[in-house]
Amino acid sequence: MLSVVIPAYNEEEMIPKTSQTIDKILKEAGIEHELLFINDGSKDNTWTVIEDEASKNPLVKGVCFSRNFGKESAIFAGLYESKGDCAVVIDCDLQHPPEKIVEMYRLWEQGYEIVEGVKASRGKESGLHRFAAKSFYNIMTDAVGFDMSRASDFKLLDRKAVNVLLNMNEKNAFFRALSSWIGFKSTEVEYDVREREAGISKWSTRALIKYAVTNISSFTSAPLQIVTLLGVLVFGLGLYSIIEALIRYFMGTAKEGFTTVIILQCLTSSAIMLGLGIIGFYISKIYEEVKGRPKFIIDRTTYEK
Ligand code: UDP
Ligand code: MG
Repeated sequence: MLSVVIPAYNEEEMIPKTSQTIDKILKEAGIEHELLFINDGSKDNTWTVIEDEASKNPLVKGVCFSRNFGKESAIFAGLYESKGDCAVVIDCDLQHPPEKIVEMYRLWEQGYEIVEGVKASRGKESGLHRFAAKSFYNIMTDAVGFDMSRASDFKLLDRKAVNVLLNMNEKNAFFRALSSWIGFKSTEVEYDVREREAGISKWSTRALIKYAVTNISSFTSAPLQIVTLLGVLVFGLGLYSIIEALIRYFMGTAKEGFTTVIILQCLTSSAIMLGLGIIGFYISKIYEEVKGRPKFIIDRTTYEK
């Protein structure tokens, strides 16, 4: 059986359409399936709509979070609740073409354990957004060691891979990258990102920046090396200033005092603060992980647990 995991946040307009489209495609292809909608603390009627769909179609199941935990948590909750031999994760807005699920499923039948959906194009995006996304993926590609520039959350995972992911107890799990990181026999399926059919994108610029920084920090500690680098730079500068000052002192043309002192003072203190900031950020991440709070809290489900 195939489990389809669909995170939904304020998607009341999309749920019926998404559920019926995917259901129809999978039925026609003769693939046994379940559709798992995860209501990620939506502020609209998403949950009522999911309950409604579930009462009409026994293959539809709904999970309701106690509040908004974010897409990553919704994906993990879906995988956690899934019963299938494999699971596919897909967006609720039909931007990921559902026909591709069949193609992915066939590849899984051939023995692939992870089938990644990769973007053939990135769809419509503004120039700045494109640039920011590109920089983010360049950093991530370096950090993860796989090409992340076309990666997306649209993928099919074998039960084996699902279980491995579920057993990772990282709080800041970045699904997109973790699924490549775990390895296994994988392949790719290309797809074109479509326009969103209804509703609006749930990502504000602020949310995207936070998402990028968190995910970079969860995969690499390279920013911490920047602190060391800063230290080396400031030390080099200091050494140069000392030598220059001493030479001038003995030559009887000592440096003008205040300007130099102020410059050095500002430079070193900003380097120190920047370093502390980066270290502090990582400590806060450690703090979050150590607390060991759950990734999500399920309030109710449309089925008996
Ligand atoms: N989503 C979610 N929780 C959130 C934000 C988004 O579950 O806090 C879901 C959303 O319902 C959709 C998917 O994640 O199914 C992708 O969101 P969206 O289409 O807004 O992102 P974009 O396609 O613009 O990257
Ligand atoms: Mg979308």
